Amino acid sequence: MVGKTDIYANGSKLSHPRKTGRVRKPPPSPVILISMLAGYAVQVQQSRGRRFPEPPHPYRDDYQRDRDRIIHARAFRRLEDKTQVFTRRYSDHFRNRLTHTIEVAQITRTVAGALNLNVDLAEALALVHDLGHPPFGHAGEKALDAAMRRHGSFFDHNLHALRIVEDFEHRYAAFRGLNLTFEVREGIIKHSRDYDLAQYPELAEYALDQRPPLESQLVDLTDEIGYNTADLDDGYEARLLTLDQIRAGVPVFESFFRRVRQLYPEAPEKLQFNEALKRVFNRLTSDLIENTQGRLHQLAIESVDQVRVHSDRLAAFSRDVEAERRQIKSFLYENLYYSASLSEEKDDAERIVTRLFDFWIENPSALPHYYQGKAEQESLPRVVCDYIAGMTDHYIMEQYEKHCGGK
Ligand code: MG
Repeated sequence: MVGKTDIYANGSKLSHPRKTGRVRKPPPSPVILISMLAGYAVQVQQSRGRRFPEPPHPYRDDYQRDRDRIIHARAFRRLEDKTQVFTRRYSDHFRNRLTHTIEVAQITRTVAGALNLNVDLAEALALVHDLGHPPFGHAGEKALDAAMRRHGSFFDHNLHALRIVEDFEHRYAAFRGLNLTFEVREGIIKHSRDYDLAQYPELAEYALDQRPPLESQLVDLTDEIGYNTADLDDGYEARLLTLDQIRAGVPVFESFFRRVRQLYPEAPEKLQFNEALKRVFNRLTSDLIENTQGRLHQLAIESVDQVRVHSDRLAAFSRDVEAERRQIKSFLYENLYYSASLSEEKDDAERIVTRLFDFWIENPSALPHYYQGKAEQESLPRVVCDYIAGMTDHYIMEQYEKHCGGK
């Protein structure tokens, strides 16, 4: 809530230079802002903390530090070269997993701020939400999961993200991984789905029978707002979706588009499209804020504990907007994700992941030394899976050329 209150624990207010040239002294550090968070927001002071305790930072609280650690992680930088939906074959302008992540973080900050939630925690969760995705988007994930299932296991991007932040990132001398707070690790696991304790006993510490805090619940929905609108945009730009197709298949878009055409009859079609899509985007986001606020009020939710023990997730769209969201999503599945135009590159992606996976299972000595060492402690399929999941689109293509001759 920095910037909303600007009141410091010592009672001073944020000072600004006056016209006289006199500058008031800044407050002494450590700077602790008194937050005006809602009762149902996560308070950083009540964090369950890090695995390895660390002294407090003078200028950033624990969730701000977690957010910054995520941004400085190698896995985060690799998102730049991981497919969201389109490979670069179509255009340099399309979203990749990094720009998608930044868009989700932006939406999340707005929604969390409007609900008086902990914006820093929500932002950290948005920035980390796709960290565990393998190369080549959904096709890559599907192929990796199928390969693991042939070895009696599976691939799950949330669990992989947790392994990245707990183990694979090597930045700090004092501990392995990023040593993130409990709430961020919990959100990585629980933001988008529920895990059954009987099936995942190793996740017992994350209270799997409880709902995650609202900051975490939000991210699944802001992710949807981000990619549903962005995929309409990129699909239209790529000419894989026509304006007529979108108008006919997405009624909420059509109703805004008609109004926009009356408002800007002379504007180029692309700008009319943008204006209509912007209104869809705003409708989804505003509805998420207002409907969630309404539910919290109606149910008299005043604490994080109430959020956690409630029978279902409290962050939600209204019934009407939820129906619109589903409509957009099924339109995208039918006309874009499963379209003939994208099927060739999806087939290529699946073949590359599958061929390389099998290659390293058969030739473990061709793995880098680090992964050969890991294979002494863990099963070979898991080690190969971790190696592939961490790759960018570019790097896996290079490996495919090198080991499979590009065939
Ligand atoms: Mg996402």
